[in-house]
Formats: sequence, structure tokens, C-alpha cells
Amino acid sequence: MGEEVLRVAFIGLGNMGGPMAANLVKAGHEVVGTDLSEEACAAFQAVGGQVAASAAEAVRDVQAVVTMLPAGKHVRSVYLGEDGILAHAAKGTLFIDSSTIDVDSSRDVAKAASEAGMDMVDAPVSGGIVGAANGTLTFMIGGPEVAFERAKPLLEIMGASLVHAGDAGAGQAAKICNNMLLGISMIGTCEAFVLAEKLGLDPQKLFDVSSKSSGQCWSLTSYCPIPGPVPTSPANNGYKPGFAAPMMLKDLLLAEEAAGSSGAKTPMGERAARLYEEYCGNGGENSDFSGIIHLLRNLG
Ligand code: NAD
Repeated sequence: MGEEVLRVAFIGLGNMGGPMAANLVKAGHEVVGTDLSEEACAAFQAVGGQVAASAAEAVRDVQAVVTMLPAGKHVRSVYLGEDGILAHAAKGTLFIDSSTIDVDSSRDVAKAASEAGMDMVDAPVSGGIVGAANGTLTFMIGGPEVAFERAKPLLEIMGASLVHAGDAGAGQAAKICNNMLLGISMIGTCEAFVLAEKLGLDPQKLFDVSSKSSGQCWSLTSYCPIPGPVPTSPANNGYKPGFAAPMMLKDLLLAEEAAGSSGAKTPMGERAARLYEEYCGNGGENSDFSGIIHLLRNLG
């Protein structure tokens, strides 16, 4: 696709999709967006996007389609069936689904796209709304090489780092495996600080030791769940998200679902999901995911 100006449909102009679509407009592409929310459509129009009345209308006469929707059920309903975008786009259209969804939905939709003669990748992201606005997202991509090569020029506008993780669904698999590990490591880090507090050990001393020894991890050294050691972490800002606890819970539930359908045993991931459920139901729903230290301090 190179430097060529493309006509691109963008479906789902929310917190992430809005700024991602705006970056495609800024790069000179002709972008036609749509969303169920009128407010989201108006904001997109204000940054130079065109707005279509429906997803089916948006994908008419485009070379590529990007979707950024909440969950698997939304992706299935937008892509599949008589009113679905696969039925309304021209044969050979490229589809990029950047939503974070369950691996099974991702693979089902990719199969339907391939049967309809389309190229498709799943390309979930990390980097949050700041990364979306700055075009510095990390994309984890699943799908055939030819679809990946076609998607690359568009993904490079919206992101700073691309990893082709494998076949259809591999992007979603990479995303949920990573975030399950993150959820577990954050709880482990919080537990260590709670134990240190009970033992009368200065938390800064625990940080000084663990950040340079075998307990070292990203949750400790980049996103420390207590105020002080890492000045940029949400703990210094009243645990304002950042990465909200309910989003971590969503990803842990996706990991649990994937473990169930693939036969993997993930006891720590399951325990992490139960703890985040408890936290989100007891005051953590508007908090950063590192705020789970409050739940751990008060358990039992
Ligand atoms: P959001 O709720 O802000 O945006 C989703 C948008 O999709 C909404 O505006 C909604 O109206 C629209 N939508 C739903 N059904 C639709 C339909 N049938 N047709 C057209 N539009 C429809 O969510 P978000 O924060 O932008 O997240 C999108 C995805 O990205 C999620 O899967 C999320 O897990 C993932 N994600 C989010 C973040 C983050 O920090 N927000 C980070 C990484 C990944």
C-alpha cells in the first residue's frame, strides 16, 4: 500500500478508536467512521473524518476496514450475518480488528473473512489512550503473512511497535497471556509490600532490594503499587487509572475462558481473576489496577 492514499472505514470511535482513526486522517488517508454514539461520530467529524450512518454503509468502496469494539459479541455482530460488514465490503478488502476479544470469536470471524475472500488480521493493542493519541501503540498481530504485510502501513501510523505473533487469533492470545501475567505479578508485588508492612520492613528498602534482585518485575519497577519509589506510578496519584481495574478483570476473564476452551490449567490466573472481581465489586471499579493493594491489606 506504501504512500498511497487509501479509503479506510473505521468502526468504533470510542476512547481508543477515536484517536486511532484521527491519526489515520492526519496521515492523509480518507477515513469514513461510524459508531453507535452520536457524540463519538461528531468528535470524529471535528478532526476531519467522514461519518457513515451504519457499518454496512461505511465499508462500501473502501480498501481497508479497522474495527475497535468493546467485546467479542460486538465484533461478531458487526462482522457476521446479512447486515455484517463482510457481506457489504468488496472482495479482497483488508480487515483489521484491534478490539481485545476472546480468541474463539477472533478465530471464527477470521475464518468467515477468509471464506468471503477477504484478508484479515487480529491486532489488539497495548498502550492505552495516551498511546492511541500519540500513535505509539504496540500491536500484537495474528493472521496470514499477506494480510500482515497489507496491514503494516496502517498499523505503523497508529503504533510504534508491531509484533506478528502467528496465525489468526495469535494477537489476542499474546495480549491475554501477557495481561494474565501482569495481573498475577501485580498481585504478587502488592502481597510482598503488605507482608513487608506487617514485618515492620520499610517499603523503600524492599523496593531497593527486589528491584535489583530476583523478585524484579515490571509491576515493581515501572508501576510500583505503593507511593514513593516510582514517582510516575498511579500510586502517587490516588490510584487514578492508568489501566483501570475493570479492564484488568476483563482481560483475566478472557484468559480464564481461553484456558477453559484450550485445556490449559491457570490456577494463578483464576485466583487473580477472583481477587480483581472482589476488588471491582468493593470500591475498586474506578481505580487503577495497582490499587488492589488496598484489598490485599484488608483481606480477612
Ligand atoms: P469504548 O467503549 O470507549 O469504545 C467502543 C466503541 O464502540 C463505543 O464508542 C461504542 O459506541 C462503539 N460500538 C459498540 N458497538 C458498536 C456497533 N455495533 N457499531 C458501531 N460502534 C459500536 O472502548 P475503548 O476503550 O475504545 O476500547 C475498545 C477496545 O480496546 C476494547 O476491546 C478494549 O478492551 C481495548 N483496549 C482498551 C484500552 C484502553 O486503555 N481504553 C487499552 C487497550 C485495549
